[in-house]
Amino acid sequence: MLDTDQSAVWIKNPLAVYADNSDSGVVISGNKIIELVPLGSLPKADIDEVYDASNSVLLPGLINSHHHFYQTLTRAYPEALNKDLFPWLKSLYKVWANIQPEMLAVSTELALSELLLSGCTTASDHHYLFPSQLENAIDIQVEEAQKIGMRVTLTRGSMSLGEKDGGLPPQSVVQTKRDILIDSERLIKKYHNNKEGAMTQIALAPCSPFSVTKDLMIETAGLAQQYDVRLHTHLAETIDEEKFCLEKFGLRTVDYLESVGWLSNKTWLAHGIHFNKQEIQKLGESGVGICHCPSSNMMLASGICHSLELEESGSTIGLGVDGSASNDGSNMIAELRQAMYLQRLRYGASRVTHQKAYDWATKGSAALLGRSDIGEIAIGKQADLALFKLDELRFSGSHDSLAALLLCGAQKADRVMIAGKWKVVDGKIDGQDEAELISRHSNAAIKLRQLANV
Ligand SMILES: [Zn+2]
Repeated sequence: MLDTDQSAVWIKNPLAVYADNSDSGVVISGNKIIELVPLGSLPKADIDEVYDASNSVLLPGLINSHHHFYQTLTRAYPEALNKDLFPWLKSLYKVWANIQPEMLAVSTELALSELLLSGCTTASDHHYLFPSQLENAIDIQVEEAQKIGMRVTLTRGSMSLGEKDGGLPPQSVVQTKRDILIDSERLIKKYHNNKEGAMTQIALAPCSPFSVTKDLMIETAGLAQQYDVRLHTHLAETIDEEKFCLEKFGLRTVDYLESVGWLSNKTWLAHGIHFNKQEIQKLGESGVGICHCPSSNMMLASGICHSLELEESGSTIGLGVDGSASNDGSNMIAELRQAMYLQRLRYGASRVTHQKAYDWATKGSAALLGRSDIGEIAIGKQADLALFKLDELRFSGSHDSLAALLLCGAQKADRVMIAGKWKVVDGKIDGQDEAELISRHSNAAIKLRQLANV
């Protein structure tokens, strides 16, 4: 029911809009979209305020469904350069083990800011590092997300299989199964909001087959079912991982996932690259979703996700920038361009359109996070919007404005609205001192490197 006290804002006559029947814009009231205005029409609602969008392309707010915010502290890290996944991880685990609470806070603030400025309104983070000084990592992230006012699905990650038991991470960053499950339950009870329009949700996310025990996977799935929260993990990112699963568990990755009770429509996987035909079929039939992370997959030379075959089998595809040590940026609109072009190498240009990339980053990612209230410009959905101006040199001479955002390589939104409130105005986050944030964040990154080298 509409609250009649709330004023109605008409986002009027956008240059282009990624939605049906809304060429003359949309009307927002409170935190929702209440009307789509077709070409040549005027709104039916009484309008209190008009925003002239005639120089802007209007998109649903972009949704990032896989990230590791803390990794913004180790971008372009010398010891990790030019490596594939396993050696890359091994060179960084011991650095990440030194992250202090204030470093996680500022890295979360910076990653969210970067995402927001690129048109992202909802982000998921996969935080799996809980050394003794960082046991309240997710609490810190909740606080930062609330300060900036972004919608988040914070996944309580975990690692329980250290080097001494045949896993990849050092013992200093693994926790016991008991500690992980107790904290997971605490976080769900404290922060998970399953209502329409939720700003904070929690999901459970053991890190990967090579860093957690089978028992933890099984019991995490049980806990997720008990509280009706979603499950997330990295899977089939590299051939090294497939080999690890065969050697350690005697199973390929999807059989392993099935053996721990994770083949369900509540599960979404990061990467999902190395699947055979039968595995793609099985994932689709189970409704497991895949977050495609193109930049990271290219940077670590991991491979190319079989996105269209997965979609045809019934899986949902969403998009993620992945952690900022393997991208190394958190620019969501730029990631759509990467996804479109990488997938064209597999499927050809006519099958991977710019609309396909928009769908992955909006409806697709929303479905991965289990949300039907975001990811689309439609009546009754949350008013999460991103507006981009085509006033830079790179866009001059472009004809199709929606295509131009991706083809000409948009980097920055002009305005971003979350739950009906403007969060970015004229390309700046309302109330933020960007230079001060960069200074605090880069000092934290320097300090982390010093701690790691002691
Ligand atoms: Zn990742």
